Amino acid sequence: MKTYSVRFSHSGNEANISHDALRAAVVDFLERWGTRFYLGPDFGTLLGHGDRFANLLRACGKDEAAFFQEVLHQLAQAHHQMDDQEGPEVRVSGIVLPKRLLLVFLEQMLPGDGFVAVRSVEQYAELTNTVVPGEQREDLQQVIDTYPVRLSRHVLRQSRLSRHVAYQFMPFVQELDQTGLKNTWIGQFHQGLLEQMYQNRPIFVLHMSCPVYCRFCFRKHKDCRNLPAPTVEDVQKAVEHIAASPQIKEIVLTGGEPLMNKATLTTAVAGLAGIPHVQTIRIASRCISYYPSLFFAENEFWLNYLINQNRELQKTNKKIEIATHFIHPDEISHYSLEIISRLVKGGVGVYTQTPFLKDCNDTGAELAELYAQLRAVGSELHYIYIPCSPIQGNNIYWTPISAGHAALAHLRGHLPDRAMPILCTATKIGKIDWNTSGWAVEQSGEEPDMIWIRTPYTEGYFKSFAPRFSLEKSRVNREETLDSRFMAQIGDESLFFGHLSQSAPPVRDFDPEELGRVQQLICRDQRIRQSIVPTGIEALQRVHRAQVEVDVSANRGMDDILEYIRANPEISDVVLAAEDKILNHLSEVQAYARALRSLPQVTALRVRSLMFAYEPEAFTDDVIAELIALNHLDP
Ligand code: SF4
Repeated sequence: MKTYSVRFSHSGNEANISHDALRAAVVDFLERWGTRFYLGPDFGTLLGHGDRFANLLRACGKDEAAFFQEVLHQLAQAHHQMDDQEGPEVRVSGIVLPKRLLLVFLEQMLPGDGFVAVRSVEQYAELTNTVVPGEQREDLQQVIDTYPVRLSRHVLRQSRLSRHVAYQFMPFVQELDQTGLKNTWIGQFHQGLLEQMYQNRPIFVLHMSCPVYCRFCFRKHKDCRNLPAPTVEDVQKAVEHIAASPQIKEIVLTGGEPLMNKATLTTAVAGLAGIPHVQTIRIASRCISYYPSLFFAENEFWLNYLINQNRELQKTNKKIEIATHFIHPDEISHYSLEIISRLVKGGVGVYTQTPFLKDCNDTGAELAELYAQLRAVGSELHYIYIPCSPIQGNNIYWTPISAGHAALAHLRGHLPDRAMPILCTATKIGKIDWNTSGWAVEQSGEEPDMIWIRTPYTEGYFKSFAPRFSLEKSRVNREETLDSRFMAQIGDESLFFGHLSQSAPPVRDFDPEELGRVQQLICRDQRIRQSIVPTGIEALQRVHRAQVEVDVSANRGMDDILEYIRANPEISDVVLAAEDKILNHLSEVQAYARALRSLPQVTALRVRSLMFAYEPEAFTDDVIAELIALNHLDP
């Protein structure tokens, strides 16, 4: 059997790679994932159709053995460098190979799943194929001793290819900086593993550790990591508390990493499933990104469990949702996309949350790419947390508040409306959504590194479920909600909105006749019919850089419309609307659903129907079945 031998440049470790195994892995990967969507437009075009591996070899002018040797040799030198934003580049005959393809090679060179606890600088250097400068070794060892380091084999491979992945998980000497808070806030009410910050949704902290430790974690201190994991009995007690608290509708099962503890997680789900007032069980897991093999282990235990449990829960109008966590597009692997896609197709909602990290995802462009790809496989996009947690050891990640606003403005211009996340800050007393449920009021007079943030919460709200709530780091403002003092720089003084200067507008009496008139007006024409640029096609409006609206009631021009969309690859969302009721045009809707399948850039087909609100009886079982079938039409 033909093998290739490699020696890693810094660690000196050696590996033997089977030609047949490598070939099979590369061919399989290119067949399934060798698309413009996943590997980028240039490389996807180069791969073309048919035998993509043969096309790649032809473009590189190499035979298989020469190609493999070249790539393996370059990868043996690869390691992360924090000041190299692009990361190591592997190039064959001038063609740059995408990191996502290189991951397949590294899986042969550095095989294995699982995770490792890193306890020394030497071990860290060997695992990452790096050299730690002599003057940093002592400090780095102190970091490792203070803030535990754990890395999955998957993250170790990705980190050799991407500085943006390494930046999230690899220890660094600046963690010794003491600026910031030692411990995080943990809700107003605690009882065992239960923490409650909001009246209707507590969290269960089911497991204290994670397979990979994010360096920016708000629970990063060793004291947190070393707490004993809750027992099944602890979970049962928490479930009893929920059963006796009818105001609680949602529970977030979290940690640490809750999927690391099968016994406590399955006990929690089974217990909560039997409580009538519980509607949603959210499970917060970052394994989709940094430890995807967990979902495929034990005959795909977690994938099957989540999908099957959700089906059972749906029988009593409950559901499971997965809250996951991505920061940079380099973290996305084909495993992540497959997990999200299978969960969503199996009926389990997935939503993504994103800490905002300086020098990683703080310009907007990275997030636009990240969200476009995650949304394409079905993830909803939920919160961007600005700034990332103000905990000791984290300050290299901090950005001013203004940087988050600037990134959001970029996203507004580059993502369709349905893909827009919410910009939020998690204050000590709860989250605020920027400039809707809260805003920056003013600089704190006493502490220059603190600002006052307006929240919608009141003392009464917290006292309703946490009688011992205290105003520490908060104040009652003149509108009688609470302001929270938060460690951050504003970055742009114009973001200080001060106090409300006017009282709220008067509430008008409800007038059913006026409502009827407004409804008639809205339903008279259900199209937007405003284009930001001329499309030259009567039935096509460009309503956003990434979104068009098609008037299906015009019933003409489909070829021109498809051609326009094809020529503008940034369009991801197609909204179908009609002057009259869209349900009168279901055959046209089906025709578009079929035709748009030939355009992989289009990741969302949206059907606008105001009847959904005003004439719900029009959605008969047959109509609903036809709409569901749009997701499964043959090309
Ligand atoms: S996954 Fe969450 S809890 Fe675990 S280390 Fe990362 S941020 Fe912390």
